[in-house]
Amino acid sequence: MPDGLTPPARSSVPPAAADAPDTVGPTTAAARAMSRRQFAALGGVAAVGALGPDLMRAPAGQGTRRAGHPRSPAIDVGGAADELPPFRYALEAQTGRVYAAGSAKEATVRQLPVSEGIAGVSMRLQPGAIRELHWHALAAEWAIVLTGHCQTTTFDPDGRSEINNFGPGDVWYFPRGYAHSIQGLGPGECHFVLVFDNGHFSEYGTFSITDWISLTPPPVLAQNFGVPAGTVGTPRKGELYIGPGRVPPLDAVARPDGSAHDAPLTHKFRLLAQAPREFPGGSVRIVSSLEFPISTTITGAYETIAPRGLRTMHWHPNADEWDYFVSGHARLSVFGSSGRMRTEEVSAGDVCYVPRGYGHHIENVGTEPCHFVAAFNSGIYQETGLATWLENVPPALVADNLGIPEEVVARFTRTAGPFAPA
Ligand code: MN
Ligand code: MN
Repeated sequence: MPDGLTPPARSSVPPAAADAPDTVGPTTAAARAMSRRQFAALGGVAAVGALGPDLMRAPAGQGTRRAGHPRSPAIDVGGAADELPPFRYALEAQTGRVYAAGSAKEATVRQLPVSEGIAGVSMRLQPGAIRELHWHALAAEWAIVLTGHCQTTTFDPDGRSEINNFGPGDVWYFPRGYAHSIQGLGPGECHFVLVFDNGHFSEYGTFSITDWISLTPPPVLAQNFGVPAGTVGTPRKGELYIGPGRVPPLDAVARPDGSAHDAPLTHKFRLLAQAPREFPGGSVRIVSSLEFPISTTITGAYETIAPRGLRTMHWHPNADEWDYFVSGHARLSVFGSSGRMRTEEVSAGDVCYVPRGYGHHIENVGTEPCHFVAAFNSGIYQETGLATWLENVPPALVADNLGIPEEVVARFTRTAGPFAPA
């Protein structure tokens, strides 16, 4: 996040109306004009409790209509941007780069400015198609296969290589700078989502071997590869990026004679082969560096929200969140402090981004399960749930803080989790 978007932490204003997703944060000129001095004169935090009951009357995630509602004087608008920036990007609605052998669509800070910490790509490869041999100077690469099969090769700085086959639900991770390639195995198209731990990273700016070799004089190439001058042939010109290739075997990984031994830490993790953590209202599978040691900078998750279920109010203390919605219809709300909340309707093919520390929840507003991939730019997974937190605070404190009777607090669920049922 740019510093200018990081406000002082002080707010107790109810969320924006769910039926007015574009209504965000302080909405009146008078509110924006309120100075710190005026705020202080109004009594500051002492007035916060008055809004508590309204917050609690609103169903989780539904929010309270702001129009006509008395503004809280406890908004220090002096330090906050007026609105949270958009956090949704319709990735699959874009054209991206299209080749006969495959395609790529990306979401970086250029397409989604808020996504400073994580970039993503939706890529499709036909059988045999090569996402060419390349590396990244700026970012590590995490991916999950959604449909089809593909094969990766990777070669690490210690001279160790690994070749892996992937199917739906399988994850890979290549540390920043590691050499790698991806190839479609067929049958049919392979579709996968790539995640990079740097929002400024562009998949269109990778270090590709065709690009490098095109720019290098043939005598140097001959010397480099130890062959007589004039015998290198005529390598293709320009960057291939994605191009046709021969389908490698699906179940017999072929390694060239004399290549190095397997890397000690595998680059493959079978996420959807793991048993999910099941809850009323949804399920989640998480792969962090604890389960997948090489993935030191990215944690991934595959989450399912049951119809009308809720991914409960929470935040991530240590990481930004990048989401790719696989199916379903949902409503994602992000709370940005200082009276700011933004709600976006999301469906399959959309990408969303939640900055580190920002509160959020996701409602499944459809009749089908909502599946989404979540990626976090830390190898350690952290989540703090609001309801779980309040279970661990003296009820009298919660009651006084929110301005509601302690009996109401006592009725809050004692088994709060990451999902809540319809
Ligand atoms: Mn790559
Ligand atoms: Mn989250």
